[in-house]
Amino acid sequence: MLEWLIVGGGVQGSYLSNVVVHALGAAPERVRVLDPRAGPLEAWRQRARNCAMDFLRSPGVHHIDVDPFSLLRYARSEAAPPTAELWGRYQHPSLCLFEAHARAVIERAGLEALRTPGELRHLRACDGGYRADTTHGELRARRVVLAVGPPRELNWPAWARAARERGAPIAHLFDEDAPLAGLATHERVLVVGSGCTAAHAALHSARRARSTTWLTRTALRGAEYDSEPGWLGPKFLRTFERERAPVQRRATIDAARQPGTLPERLQHAVALALRHGRLVHELGDEPRIELDEHGHAHVRGVGTAREHVFERIVLATGFARVRPGDGWIDALADELGLERAPCGYPVLAPTLEWAPGLYVTGQLAELELGPTARNIGGARLAAERLVLGRSAA
Ligand SMILES: Cc1cc2nc3c(=O)[nH]c(=O)nc-3n(C[C@H](O)[C@H](O)[C@H](O)COP(=O)(O)OP(=O)(O)OC[C@H]3O[C@@H](n4cnc5c(N)ncnc54)[C@H](O)[C@@H]3O)c2cc1C
Repeated sequence: MLEWLIVGGGVQGSYLSNVVVHALGAAPERVRVLDPRAGPLEAWRQRARNCAMDFLRSPGVHHIDVDPFSLLRYARSEAAPPTAELWGRYQHPSLCLFEAHARAVIERAGLEALRTPGELRHLRACDGGYRADTTHGELRARRVVLAVGPPRELNWPAWARAARERGAPIAHLFDEDAPLAGLATHERVLVVGSGCTAAHAALHSARRARSTTWLTRTALRGAEYDSEPGWLGPKFLRTFERERAPVQRRATIDAARQPGTLPERLQHAVALALRHGRLVHELGDEPRIELDEHGHAHVRGVGTAREHVFERIVLATGFARVRPGDGWIDALADELGLERAPCGYPVLAPTLEWAPGLYVTGQLAELELGPTARNIGGARLAAERLVLGRSAA
């Protein structure tokens, strides 16, 4: 029987496997990270590349190594690629630096060897722990950590789904087959959605396409982070922890998150592209799309112009607003009688346990960890609770 089974080997699961082996001292042969993807962080890498992200929004102390200063040290070392950069007061790493550092950590810490391919289909209690039925067979472990990331479904607004069904040239930025790839200089592009992902995509398109229009529902807003940094420590978490009602916690998280906002660096880049006419920003909601005989989309409801024509429409609308995890989460909760909040999320103990030996991290743990649970910094909060036994507040 394994000591630890971590379900999901993305940013959170890879970091936790590093902590479990190198901070907690678990024997590597008794730790497994279950994931259907080919390597650690693959889901993250695909999304970051799809939106042509250049710098991370989070500071240089958030990454997958145990020592918070590891990335900053790596950035100054000869091992760092020449294009690796840190930006600003909080030393935001470039994507190139973050990924090079992650590769170095994965190699040094032997994280690749901890992985086992497969997708969890069913989890149930068994003698001495849990039994995981996966697409590649059965695994048994004394402790299981659920680190399954954001919801699988992407956010496709109804108007966009209807347009896709009619054959409109519309794709979601997080689709597997990179919708911004191969942008041609003759193309007119519409990017829909607000926030960093949309801004990166719009700026990328503005550098390549004939014209780029960026459509948001509300005016562009600035904020350095997607929630106040006080959520990473006792400043806000102490009060949050005192509130035990899940409904109230959900309301607090919703009020604390600042989705759709842009940090200063992106605000400047967008302002420059707008000033030079490479990018047009329009307000609008639920555009109406007609197709012509060439397959071009004629779009109404974008700004004040009567009609725009686009060869390519890209949705940067993120993930579906649903609880992450598939049906097996509900089956597990039903079988073991585990508490779920009205929003469907697990109600966890301060140790992040949903049941003895069954831990939850990432977005799925946000009713316990607060609005940063889904971010890289949230993985550190989770590790402190789950592995090092420390309460965040
Ligand atoms: C474009 C983009 C930029 C971001 N930038 C930042 C940033 O700068 N700073 C920051 O802090 N946060 C950032 N985030 C938020 C967050 O850090 C990332 O979404 C991060 O990938 C979350 O890590 P995760 O491990 O929870 O999810 P993922 O990295 O998506 O990993 C989840 C893993 O679980 C696996 N999995 C899912 N279900 C199962 C199953 N049933 N069985 C086995 N495996 C399963 C998946 O295959 C996947 O590999 C960003 C997010 C996006 C989308």
